[in-house]
Formats: sequence, structure tokens, C-alpha cells
Amino acid sequence: MIHSEYGPLMVHNSLTRQKEVFTPLVEGQVGMYVCGPTVYKSAHIGNARTFVSFDIIYRYLLHLGYRVRYVRNITDVGHLTDDGDQGEDKLLKQAIEEKKQPMEIVQMATLDFHDVMKSLNALPPSIEPTATGHIIEQIRMVSQILERGYAYEVNGSIYFDTQKYIKDHPNQYGALSGKKTDDLLEETRDLNNQSDKKHPTDFALWISAPKEHLMQWESPWGMGYPGWHLECSAMSTKYLGKTFDIHGGGLDLLFPHHENEIAQNVGCCGTNPVRYWIHTNMLTVNGTKMSKSLNNSVSPAELFTGEGSIMSKAFNPMIVRFLMLQSHYRSTFDLSDDALLAAEKGYNRLMQGLKTLEQIQATGTGQTEHDDRITNGIESIYGHLNDDFSTPQALASIFDLITMINSLNDGHISSAEVNTNSLEELRKVLAAIIHDVFGLIDVTAGASGSGQSLDAVMELVLELRQQARADRNFATADLIRAKLTEAGITIKDGKDGSSWSVQS
Ligand code: AMP
Ligand code: ZN
Repeated sequence: MIHSEYGPLMVHNSLTRQKEVFTPLVEGQVGMYVCGPTVYKSAHIGNARTFVSFDIIYRYLLHLGYRVRYVRNITDVGHLTDDGDQGEDKLLKQAIEEKKQPMEIVQMATLDFHDVMKSLNALPPSIEPTATGHIIEQIRMVSQILERGYAYEVNGSIYFDTQKYIKDHPNQYGALSGKKTDDLLEETRDLNNQSDKKHPTDFALWISAPKEHLMQWESPWGMGYPGWHLECSAMSTKYLGKTFDIHGGGLDLLFPHHENEIAQNVGCCGTNPVRYWIHTNMLTVNGTKMSKSLNNSVSPAELFTGEGSIMSKAFNPMIVRFLMLQSHYRSTFDLSDDALLAAEKGYNRLMQGLKTLEQIQATGTGQTEHDDRITNGIESIYGHLNDDFSTPQALASIFDLITMINSLNDGHISSAEVNTNSLEELRKVLAAIIHDVFGLIDVTAGASGSGQSLDAVMELVLELRQQARADRNFATADLIRAKLTEAGITIKDGKDGSSWSVQS
């Protein structure tokens, strides 16, 4: 059953630049494709912001009761250094720099990406296809585009014919990015005039590879590799169909990536692939977009360990996630130590509020102004989330309810003035929104989750200390004990091994 008690879900569609009522193609089901990471370097916290935003959208759709097929790809070939079709393959360049096989780079960056997503408690997508795993599908799509006359071959490379596309589909090319044909011409002008393209706005679907190129596949046009935009058209079509509900990515992908994806799909299949385009805005540092290619990247690991230059201390991934929830996905947000410190306070207040809510009692049986406040509060949380997933406003409504919870706890509101059923409903809704939709886990002191992780860490530390003692490395064993004592943890060595306790 889809929740519709609190009104329809409105989604901002980048294609129409308007909020629209979300109605999926098939009732009760949603197909969602999100452009995944290019795995040539570890993801930075800006990339993570985009993927956490889509995680929240995914979680909210599930919460509403939709069956969602969420496809997020891994780009492991074809993304060139100029984000178009000039330059080198980002991955190959990195592999040569590090003297590794391209697939070693892919493996390292993919594992790292999964670790980061797990730390931030993002759910895995339903399917995570790789570009190199779908070469056959991409070759097939190029053939279909060629057959329909929207592409041409030059020296073993295949280019999309934008001029024919523009002629046959007036006002389509540039509709998503809002670019006029003249601007496109200016932006894509090939200064060196070295291109084989018939027209500067044409783009590569398949690129002929020189012999020494490490990543290449056989195709009807000789050895080569796919253009970057092609993988997303081929994989979204394969797993979600020729037309599907939601396509997402960062705003920087509007042009050329997403504009060209639409052209490829229309060129291949005659259908506009996406019903709702959703784009996240950029995470910035001192107002500049965080980017793998500008030297201003902060890695999630730096935030979590406090080793980055802009942070005064380590921040738990849940605080970073909370910070992301505090801004709307379509607004930019600037990463700073102050913002993280404020998020930490907000997060602690939220978790404390939830704990208090678990403990307080209500004995009322009537309907008072406090019950109305609960009902209105719940309605406004859903109202904000239904308004293009407005997490900052939903959080504000939750904090208003937490103020009330605290009043009930400290006796400013008596338990008889709140209806038992309203309090029960509030417990249910806040737990679902905060844990299931926002994906926030309680890691504050005394929370069961944090206790479990401390248990696991201490088990490991004691094992390492035991190993040091077995190796007669008593200096290390003593150092571990001394440092733990400093941190407020006492170790006791007994006949059956060591045990630990937190000093009170
Ligand atoms: P990439 O790994 O460069 O292909 O990027 C993966 C995703 O992260 C894409 O959806 C980008 O649009 C997004 N992205 C890149 N930089 C940022 C940033 N600074 N803030 C938010 N999203 C970003
Ligand atoms: Zn893509």
C-alpha cells in the first residue's frame, strides 16, 4: 500500500524545471537509475553527498510502500579527462601513473566506495552494473543508432550525429540542460580542429583504440572502447526498460552526460527514456565545487578520523550524514568545521530526544492541544518530505516535537495532558523517519549500537595485546594497557585471559 494520507509526493523534475506529482509508470513500482562513481580515485565527500541524497530518496520511496528497482552503475571505462571525448581515459591515466592494471585501480576504488557508503549507512542499490561488464549491450546500442541513421563511422570510431537529431527532433537537444544550439556550438568547438567529427556538437559513441591502449574490445568497427555516455543508456535500458521513472546524478552531469544520454536513447529506440530527472547540487569548500581533479577533495576517511586539514577533530559518519540531511539536495552546501560541529550538537539533541521519547509516559485519554501538536507535527514531517524530499524542513518539524517531548519529560507538560495513543503514534513515526528514512543510527554514548561496536573493538585490542604478550613484547602490551587507562578503560589480566571495563 502506498502512503497517500499526507498528500501526493511532489518531485522537482529538472527537465520541466517544475515540481510535479510523482506518478510511476507502473502503479506501486519505481525504476530509478543513478549515475555511479568513476572508479579511478577514491570517492570524496562531495560524491558521497550525491549518493547519500539518492539513498534518502530511495529509502523514502520504500517507506511509502513502493517496490523500487534502484540501479547505480560503476563507471570503469570510457570517462575521459575532459568529461567529453577529448583527452585520456581517467582510469587508464591513473593506472599508468600508479603502474597498475586498470582493473587493480577499479577494484581498489570500488571497495573503497562501498566502505564509505556502508559507513554512511547507505543501502546498496538493487543492481550495480559495471560499464566493462556491458560491452555487448553497448555495441548493440551503437549498431541500433547507426541503423536508424543517427550515427556515422570515421576511422573505426562512431559519432552521434547531433545535426540529424536536431533536425528530426526540434527543441529536444539542450532541453534538459537549457542550452541553446549556439551555446553548444561554442562550448564544443574543437580548437585544434583535429576531430573526425562532422560537426563539433557530435559526440563519440565508440572510440577506436590504438594498439597500446590497455582497455579495448572487439567490435564490428574494429578494436575500441565505449564513450562515457553510452554505458548509462545501455544499462538503464537493460535493467529498467526503454522508459523508466527516475534518473539521477549530480548537477554537473546535466551536460553533456545526461543530454547525450537522452539523444542516444531517442536515437536508438525512438523513446524519451526518463520521466523524472533529479539532480543534486554540489558540495563546496570555501564556495568552490569539491572535485577529484581540483586539489580540494576531502575524503570521507579524513572526516571520520579527523586527519583532514579543515577539521578540528574526528566526526562520526552519522554526524556527516546528519549534516547532509540539514541541507536540501538541490542547494549547494559548504563543508566546514563549524558546520560539522553544529551538526554534532544537532545530532546529539535528536538522538537524546528519541531516547527520552522511549522513556516518557502519557496517561491522557482525551484530545488536548498537545495531541493536536503531535498530529500536526507528523503531518508536517510528511508534508515536507512529500515536497521534493525536503529533509531540512522535516528535521525542523521533528525538532519542534522534540521540544515538546522534553517538556513532557521535565514536567512542564503533565503526562495526563497527552493521549497515550498519540504518544505511541509519535514513537512509531519518529523511529521510522529517523532510522529508516534518514538512515541515522544512534552512536551516542550508551546507545546499544555504540556499545556493540565498542565490544568488537575491545575484543580486537585485547587479542592484539594477548598476541604481543605471547611474543614476549611486554612493552607493547603495557603501552596498550596504559593508553586504555588514559581513555577510561581498565584492563584486568586473569587466569582465563583479560577482561575490560569502562571506569565510572
Ligand atoms: P564521478 O565519480 O566524478 O563520476 O562522480 C560521481 C557522482 O558524484 C556524480 O553524480 C557527480 O555529479 C557527483 N559529484 C561530483 N562532485 C560533486 C560535488 N562536489 N558535490 C556533489 N556531488 C558531486
Ligand atoms: Zn551516467
